[in-house]
Amino acid sequence: MTVRKIPGELPVSFRYTPGVANTTFFEALRDRGVLLGSRCPSCAVTYLPARLFCERCFAELTADVECGPEGTVESWTVGHVGVDDDALDPPVMVALVKLDGADTVLMHRLASDGTPAIGMRVRALVRDERSGSINDLEGFVPV
Ligand SMILES: [Zn+2]
Repeated sequence: MTVRKIPGELPVSFRYTPGVANTTFFEALRDRGVLLGSRCPSCAVTYLPARLFCERCFAELTADVECGPEGTVESWTVGHVGVDDDALDPPVMVALVKLDGADTVLMHRLASDGTPAIGMRVRALVRDERSGSINDLEGFVPV
């Protein structure tokens, strides 16, 4: 199959709404500096960020578990190109981290001087000034 590229631009704009569960997650991060997840009362999976329902058994969930602030690197990569196709200088390292108490991973920046390792222990760095954004979390640092 041949891939055809059709040049042009689409004037698309949208407004992202985080929904009920993510709003609770972002408010807890902003107001208390904690990472709030949901533990399924039926199958015991803990999701981070908080969710409204369990993806495995469809049970209704509430945001009721603080996870972290430490966790384990499950995977990582280095980004050299940004979302607007611009070069990232310096490159940005990101990791999938399973925070203590969670069964799912959270992706965020990883500040590591050396090459990270899967299984490496890290700690979430929460900013002092917070607004209710994922950037209230500065990222993860090795412990
Ligand atoms: Zn469940």
